[in-house]
Amino acid sequence: MKYDYVVIGSGISGLVSGIILSKQGLSVAVLEKAAQPAPLLRGFKRRGIHIDTGFHYTGAFAHGEALDSYFRYLNIAEDLEKIPYDSECFDSFYFTDDDYSFSFPFGYERLRDRLCSAFPHEKKGIDSYLHTVSEEFNRSPHLNLDISSNNIFMYDPYSSQSLKSFLQGLISNPRLRSILSMHYLLYGTEPGRSSVSVHAQVAGSLYSSVHGIKGGGRTLAKTLLQRLRNLDADIFSRSNVAKVMVRAGEFQGVELANGETVQAKGCISSIHPRALLPLVEETAFRPATRQRFQAFEDTTSAFMFSAELEQLPEMLSRKNLFLCPDDDLDTYCHLERAIEKRPFFFASAGLENEKSRPGMIMLCPASMQEMYPWRDSLPEHRPESYLEMKQALMQRVHDHVLRKVPAIHSLTMLDCATPLTFRDYANAPSGCLYGIKQKYGQLNPTPLSKIRGLYLTGQALTAPGILGGTISAFLTCGVILGQQKLIQEVRKCR
Ligand SMILES: Cc1cc2nc3c(=O)[nH]c(=O)nc-3n(C[C@H](O)[C@H](O)[C@H](O)COP(=O)(O)OP(=O)(O)OC[C@H]3O[C@@H](n4cnc5c(N)ncnc54)[C@H](O)[C@@H]3O)c2cc1C
Repeated sequence: MKYDYVVIGSGISGLVSGIILSKQGLSVAVLEKAAQPAPLLRGFKRRGIHIDTGFHYTGAFAHGEALDSYFRYLNIAEDLEKIPYDSECFDSFYFTDDDYSFSFPFGYERLRDRLCSAFPHEKKGIDSYLHTVSEEFNRSPHLNLDISSNNIFMYDPYSSQSLKSFLQGLISNPRLRSILSMHYLLYGTEPGRSSVSVHAQVAGSLYSSVHGIKGGGRTLAKTLLQRLRNLDADIFSRSNVAKVMVRAGEFQGVELANGETVQAKGCISSIHPRALLPLVEETAFRPATRQRFQAFEDTTSAFMFSAELEQLPEMLSRKNLFLCPDDDLDTYCHLERAIEKRPFFFASAGLENEKSRPGMIMLCPASMQEMYPWRDSLPEHRPESYLEMKQALMQRVHDHVLRKVPAIHSLTMLDCATPLTFRDYANAPSGCLYGIKQKYGQLNPTPLSKIRGLYLTGQALTAPGILGGTISAFLTCGVILGQQKLIQEVRKCR
């Protein structure tokens, strides 16, 4: 059978792309390398506790906001129960160097009041910062569906200014600068290199509203997959695309690692852009494109610890905790830092899962270089020394948490995912959490490729996250179907 489109990868961007195209009556096959579709979203189980991995919370999901509108267009909104986060504090930042806490609320007015009362001498800078974030967020036609989509690829001066230099020009208090930059950990590009515009899109999405989904990433994945099946799309897991077949500059189909081929008129690749290069023949992309893709720097990888708790502390009930070692945010992901000196993101293991015992995840930056001795090992055959390394880390983190987080009196460590886990289960090259960095001044991939019929999508195009991945899918399918037409259809669903 020859499909209209094959989609490589079944993360949020691949699944959303598949639904958009299927909704237009096109025949679609989604091909996923992992054993099950949506490996990053679906999470995993340890001792009966479900552990969410690639989705905990999101912004822009309140009624009428961008993500809500996209999910309505996809006909999945009705099947997802939103869990609002605590508007007074959806994220708390606890600085361990001087025992300082800041509770980050959502709602621009509330956030402004909280920041101004904590930093009364910085009112002017706070106002200016919040104004810029709001303006930047609202100038994107994929985040603000009320504006015209004509300027989608228009130059934005804030895309070439670093968040760090922007804040240095506005705010003199280093702690306040840290507080305003901390959400960079959600997109993985340090403030000295991330652009104001990407920060405004990711962090800014959380300033209006914050929600989780009942059942977490697993429910989101199941719902997307069910919708695709209802639209008669085919989803194949264990389907590792090994080659993109091109003839005379035109896409023909893909060849899987097992030798099977899947023919299609067009293809959307949602995989890491660097991982696409070996799949296409040398001459299909211009040397300059290859060099640019090769040069993309990956976001950090991580250790992700999971633990069972006797009860979920209040600080993780519809909110998260960032344990911040100091104000040197640009070095947070440096490996010279001992694990106890790294930042940690704490979140409940899964939302409102009544049947499950309470658990939490703790995520801290890590690098593939730390995995050097085990780099060639595969999941089923990790050496004993790897398991010993994980045990030792788990013990250190257990002790660190009991020392530094007073609200947690006891925890049983369940497991530790490493950069190798992210590489081998989520198929993220280098184990990176959020694909490539969104650096200021960097030309990230666009949906169009040099090969006719081959399009790109995924977090590399826009920004990471459920919101970023969803937008990238709409952006790419907009190129195929007509940007104006698609956005107008989304607008009608609000
Ligand atoms: C630990 C963690 C926590 C996170 N928490 C949040 C959160 O709370 N909120 C939020 O909004 N975002 C969060 N994110 C980010 C979010 O999960 C990602 O940005 C998003 O899921 C990326 O989606 P994607 O479709 O671009 O890529 P992916 O999900 O990586 O999809 C690409 C898919 O392609 C497959 N693939 C790769 N190569 C091939 C091949 N050759 N053939 C076939 N298939 C292939 C991969 O297996 C993968 O399934 C988190 C991420 C991580 C890692």
